[in-house]
Amino acid sequence: MNHFQYKDGRLFAEDVDLTALAQKVGTPFYCYSSATLERHYRVFAEAFPKDTLIAYSVKANGNLGVLKTLAQLGAGADVVSGGELKKALKAGVPANKIVFSGVGKTRAEMMLGLEAGIHQFNVESEPELAALNSVAKELGKRAPITIRINPDVDAKTHAKITTGTSENKFGIPWSRAREAYKLAASLPSLEIVGVDMHIGSQITELAPFEAAFARVADLVKTLRADGHSIKRIDLGGGLGVPYAPTDPAPPAPELYGAAVSRAVAGLGCELILEPGRLIAANAGVLVSRVTYVKEGEAKKFLILDAGMNDLIRPAMYDAHHEIVSVREAAPAAVYDVVGPVCESSDLFGSNRRLPELKEGDLVAILTAGAYGAVMASAYNARPPAAEVLVKGDQWAVVRPRMSDDELIGLDRIPG
Ligand code: PLP
Repeated sequence: MNHFQYKDGRLFAEDVDLTALAQKVGTPFYCYSSATLERHYRVFAEAFPKDTLIAYSVKANGNLGVLKTLAQLGAGADVVSGGELKKALKAGVPANKIVFSGVGKTRAEMMLGLEAGIHQFNVESEPELAALNSVAKELGKRAPITIRINPDVDAKTHAKITTGTSENKFGIPWSRAREAYKLAASLPSLEIVGVDMHIGSQITELAPFEAAFARVADLVKTLRADGHSIKRIDLGGGLGVPYAPTDPAPPAPELYGAAVSRAVAGLGCELILEPGRLIAANAGVLVSRVTYVKEGEAKKFLILDAGMNDLIRPAMYDAHHEIVSVREAAPAAVYDVVGPVCESSDLFGSNRRLPELKEGDLVAILTAGAYGAVMASAYNARPPAAEVLVKGDQWAVVRPRMSDDELIGLDRIPG
């Protein structure tokens, strides 16, 4: 369910007319719906016990406007860098609702987290345990930690977004979990508070989650028997969203919540979840203008002013995004929808049935709110798309597009 609908033949974001908005802010731009963000957060949070920490995964969409919207509903944050940590704090997420994940935290980032007083560090390796212990000791603090355990479960998702098999760089292998906890317990500036896992993203079946949750629940019992105080379980993010109408519907949050409850029943642990895509993906579209309609030998190309530098998911993950005309009309032509970047992979969709479109017409690339703007680059010296947040009939530019001069001004010619 999202709030991008046609009214009087034009696509709206809530009560904002995207055609009029495009005139005001220029294209391309990402447009996010507050109502959709809020709805997704609430539906997800309601699937879990009240005291569950929903730590929104900032990597999915870290715009301060988005973070503030979620923070106001009580969301925590899952961050993977010092920059994301600063953003979450700036948006008003309380430090005690922030968890810090990621395989390569630097000592400077650890210091930031310790000084802010975050909820926990999800540690991903033995050397990281040692480094965090030494940084905490220097600051005269104890770092609350979980260890991310790699449950060696194949999430059956795209190879570039699976994280929970023994082939991946993430977490400590399942088979070394007890030794890693023993090591952590021997380091005086660390306080073991729980266990963490995350098996991948865009997972559309319950079975891999259930297998991983069962392993983690067993591990909690084993670690407790070893004498560790395990009071929290962080189950990561990963619940997928449908990108194409033909995609299998991912499990509803209630079913996911019920699977979690079954797995952790009787353990008496606080729960943490780190959803990203599920909250943000359907809350955003990328609006772009047609620069040219080009008749190729075998194909008709719709050349947009948005490119793979703005939305890299199709090129990077072979991801499907629905593309619609902002002016409502019946499909009448078949296009390959491409960007202007000098790469053959700058292709948003092949053989798409759309209304007959011409130069200057607008299209919206749907389900672009997660892993869209956050992954944008300035490839081909193209300033990334602006970002706009809508609430009812109100809108605000929450990240302006840089001018060419601002972008070029970041470079320096050495003396
Ligand atoms: N937590 C961690 C540790 C992650 O790596 C990710 C994404 O890969 C997430 C949470 C969010 O996952 P998703 O956006 O699929 O919910």
